[in-house]
Formats: sequence, structure tokens, C-alpha cells
Amino acid sequence: MSEVVTLGEAMACLRADGPINLGGGAHISVAGAEANVAIGLARLGHGVSFAGAVGPDRLGDLVRRTLRAEGVAVGALRTDPAPTGIVVFEQRMTGVTRVDYHRRASAGGTLSAGDVESAFALHPSPPRVLHVTGVTPALGPGPAQAVQAAVRLARSAGARVCLDVNHRARLWSESTARRTLTALAVQADIVVASEEELPLTGAGGGEAELVAGLLAAGVSEVVVKRGAAGASVVTTRETLHLPARPVTAVDPIGAGDAFVAGYLSGVLDGLPAAARLARGVTTGAFAVACHGDWEGLPTRSELDMLDLPDGSAVR
Ligand code: ADP
Repeated sequence: MSEVVTLGEAMACLRADGPINLGGGAHISVAGAEANVAIGLARLGHGVSFAGAVGPDRLGDLVRRTLRAEGVAVGALRTDPAPTGIVVFEQRMTGVTRVDYHRRASAGGTLSAGDVESAFALHPSPPRVLHVTGVTPALGPGPAQAVQAAVRLARSAGARVCLDVNHRARLWSESTARRTLTALAVQADIVVASEEELPLTGAGGGEAELVAGLLAAGVSEVVVKRGAAGASVVTTRETLHLPARPVTAVDPIGAGDAFVAGYLSGVLDGLPAAARLARGVTTGAFAVACHGDWEGLPTRSELDMLDLPDGSAVR
């Protein structure tokens, strides 16, 4: 099987050239937190399988083709009669993006535990890592059961489970999110959250108490994303912080997913915590320095590109 299995709603995205209410052009692409991570990992040379569902429409074809073109295995990407979901991005100004989702009754929301079982049954050997996010359980009971099934199958197969909290406040109430995400977090080996999301993984307290609670529950590493301030990792043995890589930020969307792809790549490569974090802040910086959620993510040979002086020409 692939080194990594991930699941979720991959959607088509429209990236408007300007304010949408004025009309004008838009660029069609693919979006979705787990799909972004899958592409990020595939670019770094890892075997990744994506489980999900798209509609029997041209946008579904685009999602499938893009994932396949990026080297993500799509054997577990089902075609459902429901339409492919759409997300619309309007970058109102550098650093501020409006995001509108059109995902109600879309194919991605039909994801079920059966899809996950099919994904795991596709290959005889288990993945090394399962990556899930808090977006998918917020989509409805079927996707929530799919995430639970994936975590159960991964744990019983000895795979490491990574949860990126990725809270979407418009999809569910904070109390439901906290209950579901806390239950998921304590089953994970790696928990990734922003500073604001961390309280959704426990009963209360400040960052130190929440992190200590997760480690006491059996989580092996808690990774906190801090935007332009970088990221931290806390394990039972060490606490490390790395500042962000200095780049000109042109598009903040997708930084968290890019960071997770880099961090998990470090996990798969057996790197020590500091090097895992360094790869995560590097891929996160690529995402903010380039337009698009995943389009600018680095291949393995490009990871050192941020060390080049500004104005370099790579010939
Ligand atoms: P999310 O997109 O989930 O909100 P963050 O904004 O925290 O996640 O970004 C994830 C990571 O990407 C950060 O930990 C940091 O390493 C990197 N990053 C984010 N913003 C910037 C920035 N302006 N400059 C450089 N790196 C950044």
C-alpha cells in the first residue's frame, strides 16, 4: 500500500481574478485540505492514496485527473451521482481571502466507512501513516464515520495517525467540534493545530495544559502552527520552536496543509523532530510565497530553493 492514506472532500475551486461581484475572470483548479496534503507529499516523492468521492461531472474529472497527474493514487476515489463540490476564493487583497463553499449535497459528503474499508482493502500491506483532518467529520455523519473507521483500521494495522484539527466554524458548532475532535485527537499519534484550534482538542486550560493533556493521553507529538511566527513541536522528550522562513507572502491559503505535508514527509523519512519541523516550515513558506493552495509546493529537489538569494536565476 501507499506510505500514506488520506481521505476527505476534494473539490473544484474557482480562484477569482478580482472582486467577484464585479464579474470577470477566474482560474479553475482543485482544493481540499487532505488533497493538498496528498499532493504535497507526492511532490516530495512519497506514495499517497486519496479516498473520497467526486461527481460524474467535468469538475470531478478535473479533481481525479489532477490528483493522478500529481502522482496521488486514486483507486479509492469513487464517482458518486451527486455533483462535485466547489469552493470559490476571492483574494480581496494580499493576505485577505474570502472563501465561499458550495458543498451542500455534494459528492464529497457521501464519503462513508465503506469507502475507507475499500481503500484499505485495495492493498495488502497497511500504510505507515493515516492523515485525517477536522474538516471531514464536520461534513456529516457519513464522513464522520469514515474518519472513525480510518482511524480504527490504521491503529489496528500499526499505522501512525496524524490529525490536523483544521477547524471550520461554519460547518459545525464549537461544542460538537470540541467533542468530536477531542475524541479523535487522543487516538492520534501526531496532533497538528493552530494556537486558536488547540482548545478544541481538550477539556480546557492554556496551551501548556492542553499539550500536556494530549501527551498524557498517548499522543506522541503535538505540533502547533503559528502562521508567520513559525511552528512548534512538543514531544514527551523535547519542546522545539522554529521561526517561519522569511518569504514575501502572496497567498496565505494552503499554508497549513503544505506545512503538514512537509512535516509528515520528515516523519516518513525518519528525521528528528527539529528536521521534521524545518521541512514543515519550508513547505509552509512555499505555499504562502506562491499563488494557489498546492500549485507552488516544492519537489524534493526544490526544498533548498528558499536558501537562494532574492533575484536568483536557476539555470
Ligand atoms: P493555516 O494555513 O492552517 O492557518 P499557518 O498560517 O499557521 O496555518 O501556516 C502554517 C505554516 O506555514 C506556519 O507554521 C509557517 O511555518 C508557514 N507560514 C505561514 N505563514 C507564513 C508567512 N507569512 N511566511 C512564512 N511562512 C509562513
